[in-house]
Formats: sequence, structure tokens, C-alpha cells
Amino acid sequence: MSYQLLGLALLVLFCAMPAMAEEQFETDLIETSAGELEITFIGHGTLMFRFNDKVIHIDPWTRLADYSKLPKADLVFVTHHHGDHLDPGAIETISNDKTVLVLTEICAENIEGGVIMRNGDAQTLMGIDVLAVPAYNLVHMRDSGEPFHPEGEGNGYVLTFGDTRVYIAGDTENTPEMKNLEEIDVAFLPMNLPYTMTPEMVADAVEAFKPRVLYPYHYGETEMSELFELLKDNKDTEVRVRKME
Ligand code: ZN
Ligand code: ZN
Repeated sequence: MSYQLLGLALLVLFCAMPAMAEEQFETDLIETSAGELEITFIGHGTLMFRFNDKVIHIDPWTRLADYSKLPKADLVFVTHHHGDHLDPGAIETISNDKTVLVLTEICAENIEGGVIMRNGDAQTLMGIDVLAVPAYNLVHMRDSGEPFHPEGEGNGYVLTFGDTRVYIAGDTENTPEMKNLEEIDVAFLPMNLPYTMTPEMVADAVEAFKPRVLYPYHYGETEMSELFELLKDNKDTEVRVRKME
């Protein structure tokens, strides 16, 4: 290769680099009545949505992404205060003076300027209807007997984009509040053990509230084959597995 060609090749490589930070993540498009919703799978319990001109970050976590290279947030949702969900550094990096930050009460003890939503609260933020759903353990406990996620502390969120309802469950088990949800198009349910749901718990919840699409997320080492086996006769829900360990 001539030096000229090599130079050109390096130039092309260099110019492509800024886009790479975002391109390393998988994305899916969901059609809604009000435009496309783009989901970026950052990993673990962390997501990014784009809807029309809005950018929404869910539980941004510095360990998974260089947030200085991701678009600034119009909205940030934090499900609870555990370190892999509430990361003040990531929030600071993706926020500007217009960013609206949605927090639980405990998260708000550690970070200023957020909107606090308690379990069951509903409000509309930037044209998006938001419902805070309780997120807690029924079965899985610490050695002390305290649940990993005590009731009342954490939120899941149902976000409505046009006619499409997206449920991000947070760290939770198959609670009655989850199972009573209606008309959920897209659901993100956690299955990392022992902190959240077994495949049986996920299948039980899916049979109850019948999301159109299920993304298991925050699934750690949990075997996905068991979930597929449990849901093999289920015709209501499409299960999509992305890199969300
Ligand atoms: Zn947690
Ligand atoms: Zn977690």
C-alpha cells in the first residue's frame, strides 16, 4: 500500500471513530402511533431511548458506557439507589440545564434537583405519560432476613409513547402490581439471581400481564433456555434476548 493510500485509510478510520461509541450497542426500533421509538441496549439494567427529538436515559451507569460520547438526556429515570442503577457521575455527564431527572425518595437524598416519584405516582413529562410501579422482593432476602429490595423503595416505570406502553421493571419480583398491569406492549423484566426473578417468576408475570414483547434484562448468569422452555406454549408474548447481562 502506498503512503498516500495508507494515509487515506487512516483518515477514514479516524473519521469513523466518533460514531463508534454509540454503534457498539445494539438497537431496536418499535413503531408507535406517534413515531418510532429507538431502544439502545447499553447493558445490565441500563437503556437509552430516542423518541422523536427526545433522548431518555434509564439508570445510566459509567461502568457500561462512556457517557461523554452519548447524547445528552432530556429525561433520566432512576429506578432505585443501588450503585448499578444510581450513578451520580453518569447523570452529571449526560445532563444539561434542561434535563429532567426522575428519582425515588431515597435517590433524592444523594442527588439534588430531581423530580421525586413515589410508588403509584403518575405524571406527564415532556409529553410522555409516566407511571411509577412498585419494585420489590417477595421471596429473595438477604441473610439478615431483609429483602434485597424492600417494598416502597424502588420504582419501575411505565412510559407511554403515542399508543405504546413500555414497562421498565427495575429490580423486582413478580409482584401483584406487576401482574395487574394492562396493555403493556414492551416489558423489560430483570432476572439476575438471587436479587430479582427466577425464570419461573418471569414466566408467571408474563402469563399474567401478557406483554406483546418481553426483553429479559439485568439477567446476569441466569440461563435463558429455562425461560424459553417455560414460555414455549405462550403465543401472546415475543421474547427478545439482547446483550443485557
Ligand atoms: Zn438493586
Ligand atoms: Zn440491579
